[in-house]
Amino acid sequence: MRFTVRPGCLMLALLGALSAGLPAQAAEPPIRVGVLAYRGGDHANAVWEPTVRYLADRFLRRGAEMVPLDLPGMDAAVAAGSVDFVLTNTGNYVELEARHGVTRIATLHSSRSGASGAAVGSALIVRAGRDDIRSLADLKGKSVMAVDPDAFGGFQIAWGAMLTAGVDPYTDLKELRFSGFPVDRVAFAVRDGAVDAGVLRACVLEELAAEGHLDRAAFQIVGTRTEPGFGCALSTGLYPDWPLARLAKTPEDLAKAVVVALFQMPDGHPAALVGGYEGWTVPMDYQPVHGLFRSLRIGPYEHLRDVTLLDLAREHWHWLALAALALLWWAVHSLRVEHLIKVRTAELRAANRELRHEMAERRRAEDTARERQKEMDHVARLSILGEMASNIAHELNQPLGAIANYARGCTRRLEAGVGSAAEFAEASRAIAAQADRAGQIIARIRDFVRKRAVQLEPADVNGAVEAALQLCEGRARSGNIPVTRDLTPGLPPVLADRVQIEQVVLNLVKNALDAMDDGAGEGRGVTVRTGLDGEGRVEIAVADRGHGLSEDARARLFDPFFTTKPGGMGLGLSICRTIVESHGGHLWATDHPGGGTVVRFVLPAAEEKVDAG
Ligand code: ADP
Repeated sequence: MRFTVRPGCLMLALLGALSAGLPAQAAEPPIRVGVLAYRGGDHANAVWEPTVRYLADRFLRRGAEMVPLDLPGMDAAVAAGSVDFVLTNTGNYVELEARHGVTRIATLHSSRSGASGAAVGSALIVRAGRDDIRSLADLKGKSVMAVDPDAFGGFQIAWGAMLTAGVDPYTDLKELRFSGFPVDRVAFAVRDGAVDAGVLRACVLEELAAEGHLDRAAFQIVGTRTEPGFGCALSTGLYPDWPLARLAKTPEDLAKAVVVALFQMPDGHPAALVGGYEGWTVPMDYQPVHGLFRSLRIGPYEHLRDVTLLDLAREHWHWLALAALALLWWAVHSLRVEHLIKVRTAELRAANRELRHEMAERRRAEDTARERQKEMDHVARLSILGEMASNIAHELNQPLGAIANYARGCTRRLEAGVGSAAEFAEASRAIAAQADRAGQIIARIRDFVRKRAVQLEPADVNGAVEAALQLCEGRARSGNIPVTRDLTPGLPPVLADRVQIEQVVLNLVKNALDAMDDGAGEGRGVTVRTGLDGEGRVEIAVADRGHGLSEDARARLFDPFFTTKPGGMGLGLSICRTIVESHGGHLWATDHPGGGTVVRFVLPAAEEKVDAG
């Protein structure tokens, strides 16, 4: 809105021109002073016209005229260059300075200035008796009215103070309303209870009261502050008073002349009295106003509020580039790692498959080998038993012959009618004993040749030796070869398959007997010895006084199919060694010191083996 120039002003200009003795159509137009009419045109005219008239009196040739303007009007007039000077509030000045390059040339020295010279602040008012709103922080959740978002003392200073107190008027209030000019409306709204609190430029309340518009006692101030020398009620700090500023296009000389004229205004001049100020002083520092606007991000700092993504990107492009690079590196790295993992997983899977296949193959091979070994053991046992069959038959003959003899003797005695019942009972017991013996021999043969799985259990070595010797006793006796037992009693058991141990002993004894078949060797005989070796293992030695080992036999003793015997298979010793080694033992042959051969083997004691396992 733009107020038209009051006729009075034009009259003044004309008067000025006349008193300067110049024609009215002087080439120079009057000095135009834009004045912020914050309480309406009439109020502005009443307050500032005398000041402008004072200037007109000092510039008689040009005269001076006042242009009352509201905030948008002020901006438009400055932009259009339709005024030479502006007399405006502090906040508006800072904006005009930033936007249009106006420069302050004097600051109003207000009669109500504080000791610092600053005179603009805000007062937050509530109705008297509102004890619930004492500090600025109490405004949270309340309704507040201010004149205009662009009003400096009328809103912006209070806004900054409220933010400092932790209340953002735009988010923390129940309602924020703007009444528009004139500011009287704010005070009335508070008085009438339309809002909880109102923001006024400091001293406006006092002015309204002095003018009789309202009763000062009906209001109280929120968060009262005192500034030395400042006479009005105040809720905030103080900022410099209104400046008079020249436009960029305003000639330097004119500006200087106007400043001089203002500084020379005599004390108590009516213009000052009407304007409510004492005079003019050098332009004050408006940096605190910049600070306030910067923190509120308004006026010249409004751009801080609208920071776009593009602005951010422009400002921090190097960080963004770095982040993009890092992201790219990370993506490439991740892809590479993922690829490697895939490749390695595939490799591992293939290796696993191969391993499983190999393991299955090995298990199959082991099963087959075990089966073969079992077959071979069986065949070997059958074969060795076959070799001994005639002797075993002879062995069986003995109990059977004894049974027959006992039976015949009993028959004869019965027929002759001799013999007591006790004698017959004795004979019957003898028959039974012989039958048991024959039965045992048969059972042992059956056990020995039975096809069976290997069974490891604690076995008594002396018992196994005894069982083996019984199977070849007949053979020894028929060859007239004494078999001596030198068995150490109380040996620890060995963890073994007892039949296999018997098989080994039987083989060794059979070989020993074979070595003496030709009648060679002095003091013929076989000794089977058991005992403990130096390392706590159970040792079994079969010593003979036979023909001993030839060089060839010594070298190839354990080779499968190596035999020097007609009809021999050459498997006995190789099978014996396999059996002993599968029990964790060891088998070897040495020469007998007195001629002949000693073949011995050791087996770990059961406890030792169990512990070790
Ligand atoms: P086989 O008894 O069927 O020949 P072995 O493997 O039991 O098969 O024996 C292989 C060979 O080792 C025998 O043929 C024999 O020459 C020799 N041998 C084994 N034991 C003795 C021994 N106690 N004295 C001399 N030679 C032996």
